Amino acid sequence: MSHPSTLTVRVARKQREALDIDSFELVAANGEPLPVFTAGAHVDVHLPGGLLRQYSLCNPPGETHRYQIAVLRDAHSRGGSQAMHDLVKAGDTLQISSPRNHFELVPDAQRHVLLAGGIGVTPLLCMAEQLVSTAANFELHYCVRSRERTAFEARIANSRLAPHVKFHWDDGPA
Ligand SMILES: Cc1cc2nc3c(=O)[nH]c(=O)nc-3n(C[C@H](O)[C@H](O)[C@H](O)COP(=O)(O)OP(=O)(O)OC[C@H]3O[C@@H](n4cnc5c(N)ncnc54)[C@H](O)[C@@H]3O)c2cc1C
Repeated sequence: MSHPSTLTVRVARKQREALDIDSFELVAANGEPLPVFTAGAHVDVHLPGGLLRQYSLCNPPGETHRYQIAVLRDAHSRGGSQAMHDLVKAGDTLQISSPRNHFELVPDAQRHVLLAGGIGVTPLLCMAEQLVSTAANFELHYCVRSRERTAFEARIANSRLAPHVKFHWDDGPA
């Protein structure tokens, strides 16, 4: 089935995930299922003010009732992440692209080692969800400057991902 290149979505939920990181749950404004996406995919988000920025989908692939993205506020932002944090709120409508994937998992690998740095965890979290659902052999190393900057720590710790994930904090034990 082909999908329109631009989707209209509603922000169903905006949530603080960690210091300077907010997540956004996006649902189709017309209530229809969203296009299927694969682990590693991202969407282009048309921001208030006219900027276009890319954000990776971090919910389990296969979900069509929502997309989840998480955005780090960049201290030197020219406006993209700042707009997501300061201007976009629950209930708002946004235009996004259909998901595209330039960062696909190798399906037949015998073992996957996922290395995440900070907000770069977003596509890898989606990959981890995919790998755990297929009982694949994998580990995710999640490196973050500090615990307060660690998005999705509770989600990981309280899920079947937990045994596969190792956290590395710059300010933690060596
Ligand atoms: C495929 C893809 C997926 C992504 N997924 C995520 C995600 O899941 N979460 C997330 O938070 N971000 C993600 N990003 C990054 C995101 O698209 C934005 O780039 C990010 O939010 C910053 O946008 P901004 O407008 O706030 O900052 P920008 O204004 O784009 O600035 C970003 C950085 O570039 C530097 N910079 C600005 N101008 C210049 C210049 N002229 N020369 C050199 N350096 C400059 C700034 O100092 C700043 O540190 C993704 C990007 C891609 C391509």
